[in-house]
Amino acid sequence: MLRLPLNHCRVCGTAVAYRLPDDGDTKERAVCPACNTVHYENPLNVVGTVPSWGEDGAQVLLCKRNIEPRRGKWTLPAGFMELGETTSQGAARETDEEAGAQYEMLGLFTVMNVVRVGQVHMYYRARLLSAEFNPGYETMEARLFTEAEIPWDEIAFKTVKQTLEQYFEDRRKGAYGIHTFDIE
Ligand code: ZN
Repeated sequence: MLRLPLNHCRVCGTAVAYRLPDDGDTKERAVCPACNTVHYENPLNVVGTVPSWGEDGAQVLLCKRNIEPRRGKWTLPAGFMELGETTSQGAARETDEEAGAQYEMLGLFTVMNVVRVGQVHMYYRARLLSAEFNPGYETMEARLFTEAEIPWDEIAFKTVKQTLEQYFEDRRKGAYGIHTFDIE
């Protein structure tokens, strides 16, 4: 679901009103009647990795979520990008936090627009350097799956399923591209 509308000014706390700002902007924004601050609300970035193991990348690391939403479902390590980091650094940080994996970051793999919730998801490929994982509190279990073993009906998010399907398709071709998708 889309983020809730902003109710109060982030600067002074006064209740905001959604209206066209005075500067010729054509979209309604949350405008503060007290201090005139215009609050721009824009999509958030979610960044993550497809960590693969083995010389031919036949196995992929998935994490069983220990937090809502979709607690108990499997996901690739990913989360919201933080201020002060690059997309690649954010993807690496999430991989540390959720899986405690050791890996080498590789190239950008998927870019997915999730317009319905105002998000852009980006996944990088990563090469695991060890099959030992030390997952954090957000993860119940972290383990490797071959394509045949992946619990396709237990994948937490459409973006993760799309990225995994593309990963194994590219792997069969022997060449990994950069893919963009619009998720329903
Ligand atoms: Zn204000």
